[in-house]
Amino acid sequence: MKHLLSVLALLLTPLAALAETAKPNIVFILADDIGYGDLGCYGATKIKTPVLDRFAKEGRRFTDAHSPAAVCTPTRYAFMTGEYAFRKQGTGILPGIAGLIVAPGRMTVPGMLKLAGYTTGVVGKWHLGLGTTPTDYNTEIKPGPLEIGFDYAWLLPATGDRTPCVWVENHRVVGLDPKDPIKLDYSVQRGEPRSFVNGIPRIGEQVGGKAALWKDDEICDVLAGKAVTFIEKNKDKPFFLYLATHDIHVPRVPNARFKGQSQAGVRGDCVQSFDWTVGQVLAALDRLKLTDNTLVIVTSDNGGVLDNNGPDKEHGIGSPEANNGHLHNGMLRGGKGSPFEGGTRVPFLARWPGHIPQGDSAALICHVDMLASFAALTGQKLPDTAGPDSFDVLPALLGGTTGRETLVEHGGVLALRQGTWKLIPPAEGAKAKKNKKRGTGPDAQLYNLANDLGETKNVAAEHPDRVREMTAVLDRIREQGRSRP
Ligand code: CA
Repeated sequence: MKHLLSVLALLLTPLAALAETAKPNIVFILADDIGYGDLGCYGATKIKTPVLDRFAKEGRRFTDAHSPAAVCTPTRYAFMTGEYAFRKQGTGILPGIAGLIVAPGRMTVPGMLKLAGYTTGVVGKWHLGLGTTPTDYNTEIKPGPLEIGFDYAWLLPATGDRTPCVWVENHRVVGLDPKDPIKLDYSVQRGEPRSFVNGIPRIGEQVGGKAALWKDDEICDVLAGKAVTFIEKNKDKPFFLYLATHDIHVPRVPNARFKGQSQAGVRGDCVQSFDWTVGQVLAALDRLKLTDNTLVIVTSDNGGVLDNNGPDKEHGIGSPEANNGHLHNGMLRGGKGSPFEGGTRVPFLARWPGHIPQGDSAALICHVDMLASFAALTGQKLPDTAGPDSFDVLPALLGGTTGRETLVEHGGVLALRQGTWKLIPPAEGAKAKKNKKRGTGPDAQLYNLANDLGETKNVAAEHPDRVREMTAVLDRIREQGRSRP
């Protein structure tokens, strides 16, 4: 008997070791509005990002990775569900009173990882709606992240420039005085009169909840602290942490220690604040000896933007001069909200020592692929109905050269990538009129990114067959309701 047990132990040890390597911890860090050119490792010189530059060298730097959409909510929806957001109504930028837009019961990244035995947590900006419309923040707020696969949630409910300006932990607003209930009014969303919270203009008026208000210049510290605490609490079992920062969305209120530290204005200071946040997470992994068994991904939810809420120099919103010549989207055309590459092509860094080879990758990948890729990583097969647009790009994450062949880039209109070709179809309906700011209009646009990454020369007229073929591919992806094989 004793002999048998020792044989079993011998057999089990390697299996247990294998199981451990097959289930690395996963940390997915999603910045807000950081553009392709904002990090030192992607060419920035006026903004210093030493943490991310070192991290890039230790892992893989992707040069053709995309957020699923060119703005917040649809990107986060697609990441969470593996479904392009254009397929679902109501996935545009949400107000702070919107109910949850991910249906409980459907397959999500955290839900899938829970099935694989992971403990799952979300810390940071949510912006996928909470409860039912209009959200009541004075009671138990659900459904929310805990109803779609997360074990723990510490949330900035919508955006920094939208009310409510309070933290939500699991189902409750933190520090809310029941005698001072939160009332939100989103009847005026844009323009004057704007509401102010902590002296900063916000979308949606907030009355009440005074004791629960966050402090804008402490947001990065709070989020880094909560992320580190989650890691510490779960260090002995596989965990998934989704850390979605407020940096560098407006209002940009960097902590005093970051103020004036970059050479690209307040916006640049906030990028450096983001770099610090990532540093806190990486240091915790080092300290707890988890680095070798943790896949860490750092990316952004859409392309960079100087400002999208009107001039407000005090809060880091401002003129190109304030950017001091820094190119927030590098040499790409367009930015946040745009169907050009600057809308969705974002920094994407992945590190898992011993598993991800160091270097650059030109593979075409997208956040919508994380569901299928993390499923493959943890040895799970997705049901056919789950993640209709999520491709398994794990081979690319682990050093292979092949990514997707096609990708829908969702920025106002739906554009299509096919290899290095990019089609922006004619805008339809009310959008058909030439939109100078967006660069879209009644004509089809075709670019060959292999020799024209900046999308300067429309070659649609020279390649009518390719335009026709790519239009048909895009139509098929839309009509079939799925693009995953
Ligand atoms: Ca964003």
